[in-house]
Amino acid sequence: MIIAKTAEEIELMRESALVVSRTLGEVAKHVKPGVTTLELDKIAEDYIRSQDAIPGFLGLYDFPNTLCMSPNSQVVHGIPNNTPLVEGDIISIDCGAIKNGFYGDHAYTFEVGEIDPETKKLLEVTKQSLYKGIKELKVGNRVGDVGYAIQKYCEDHGYGVVRELVGHGLGRVMHEDPEMPNYGKRGRGKKFIEGMVVAIEPMVNLGTKNIKQHNDGWTITTRDNKPSAHFEHDVAIVNGKPELLSTFKYVYEALGITSTEEDEFRQVKN
Ligand code: MG
Ligand code: MG
Repeated sequence: MIIAKTAEEIELMRESALVVSRTLGEVAKHVKPGVTTLELDKIAEDYIRSQDAIPGFLGLYDFPNTLCMSPNSQVVHGIPNNTPLVEGDIISIDCGAIKNGFYGDHAYTFEVGEIDPETKKLLEVTKQSLYKGIKELKVGNRVGDVGYAIQKYCEDHGYGVVRELVGHGLGRVMHEDPEMPNYGKRGRGKKFIEGMVVAIEPMVNLGTKNIKQHNDGWTITTRDNKPSAHFEHDVAIVNGKPELLSTFKYVYEALGITSTEEDEFRQVKN
């Protein structure tokens, strides 16, 4: 069952979403060739704890760290390690935190130094597909409308949309109803309701949509070992319309990027 949040609960969830947003902003300052994903993980854990929040992934389903770190052909759920990032890598970083009893869940795929134009395009299209999906999160629409918008946009660019992993409702637990696939048919699936909060998170591959699971029980890579991108926002339905709770603005500040992409999804300015 979809759990609608009260206005007060949505404001608490905005705080949780801002914790993970600022955490990715802190991490963004250090994403460079030579840094290890374990070093970035420590930066994130220290920052989250400094905000009177708790790392949301650490120990969840026995995950061993604060961040999921998935470089290059890894799709999601990669485990931080001591291997330094190198020029030309991409790294998908997924961050969860609990603040005031509510989860924030937020992801961004970073470029490490200069990356090749083909991969750069994959990142841009995946991020844009996230906003195509968010636009459909409104009262009167259904789960399939969001999935369709994401799938159509990515497949029109020739990319593979991962099927096995999906977005989800978000609240006092990490994965609430409904599941939010990044593919689907218009007008199908559960109806959206006022006050619901979801994590929308396209996982998009340069090549095949097919994936494989590694023996560590966590890491997932593309079947053809081509790159994969992942962007995730937390979004509520307020006044019937999508209201962004998370923000990439801290990442953009760290990276020196100017963007207005979030403006249309923000009824409350922050
Ligand atoms: Mg996530
Ligand atoms: Mg998620």
